[in-house]
Amino acid sequence: MTYKLFIPGPIAVSEKTLRAMAQPMIGHRSTDFVALYRALQPELQALFYTQDPVYLSTSSAWGVMEGAIRNVVRKKVLNCMNGAFSDKWFDVAQRCGKQAGALKFDWGQPVDPAALRRELATGAYDAVTLIHNETSTGTMSDLPAIMAVLREFPDVISIVDTVSSFSVLPIKKDELGIDILLTGSQKALALPPGLAIFSVSKRALDRAAQAADRGYYFDLVEFQKNHENGMTPSTPVIPLIYALQSKLADIKAEGLEARYARHRRLNATVRAWGYANGFKLFPAEAYGSLALNCFANTRNLDLGVLNKVLKAKHGLVIDGGYGKLKGKTFRISNMGDETDGTIAELIAALDSALKETPVASA
Ligand SMILES: *Cc1c(COP(=O)(O)O)cnc(C)c1O
Repeated sequence: MTYKLFIPGPIAVSEKTLRAMAQPMIGHRSTDFVALYRALQPELQALFYTQDPVYLSTSSAWGVMEGAIRNVVRKKVLNCMNGAFSDKWFDVAQRCGKQAGALKFDWGQPVDPAALRRELATGAYDAVTLIHNETSTGTMSDLPAIMAVLREFPDVISIVDTVSSFSVLPIKKDELGIDILLTGSQKALALPPGLAIFSVSKRALDRAAQAADRGYYFDLVEFQKNHENGMTPSTPVIPLIYALQSKLADIKAEGLEARYARHRRLNATVRAWGYANGFKLFPAEAYGSLALNCFANTRNLDLGVLNKVLKAKHGLVIDGGYGKLKGKTFRISNMGDETDGTIAELIAALDSALKETPVASA
């Protein structure tokens, strides 16, 4: 059975993108690959709003999230934590043998720039991790305000995950002063999983060059060295790079401003549907994500039944809550290629399926 994903990742991939992947292989040290790699650079730099190189890592986002820790943390990293992915990053830093500090906020609350400033003022840290859009709770922190704080601490390297917000709204790496900006393929970019895309400042590269135990696969210095030759350190996932090329052409054709406006509009449409049907937003309302809506299950519906009906009768799937929020929230993505038409179909299906959804038993 085929069905369409409205979960916040992986998300639905277009036929055009899938077809782009089915091209003959080229050698990753060939002039054809170098031409492909180099042709993508200006397009990627425009999306990252950066003059720095943009690297392609054959891994999911976590590869680069862990690799960044290994490359730039010498003293201690401060992990901003307000959901499942950002909480995990603290755990990952410790697993890498790094000193790590936890800057915790309740799930659904944004990262507070003032609290970040107070903690950094201790002078204990030389790196910070931040998840711009906590996908687990649909919470989008105020990135410009947070980066304004980080710019007060020039010795602190910022590592910013935009896995589920990249290309949903402008994220201006150079202007904001982000050192390592990373995203993954299977969320907001609507590509299949398996490719991480990231850009690194000169400052962060210099820090990495001094790290003794940064390994090989995610060594930033290796990425830069190979980048200079139009290549990746090891054999990349070439089909996904074809898919990326196709997606970058889609984005160019639509226009960035139109893409941002579309995401904002579709997000508002789904949010209005939720409110009209008696649901509250789970996150603090002013920080509700533009890439997805995470609704509190305020009607105590049996979300398992809801999703079963959606899948069996309407051929689509939403998310019934991440981790400890399972059953308590549901999440609907508006990332990627969704249109007014596909969101209208989703809403019609939700309206129909809600009629068949009982209240959860205690
Ligand atoms: C999905 C997600 C990740 C993890 O991505 P993988 O591709 O599974 O490594 C990290 N951060 C955020 C914000 C995510 O939404």
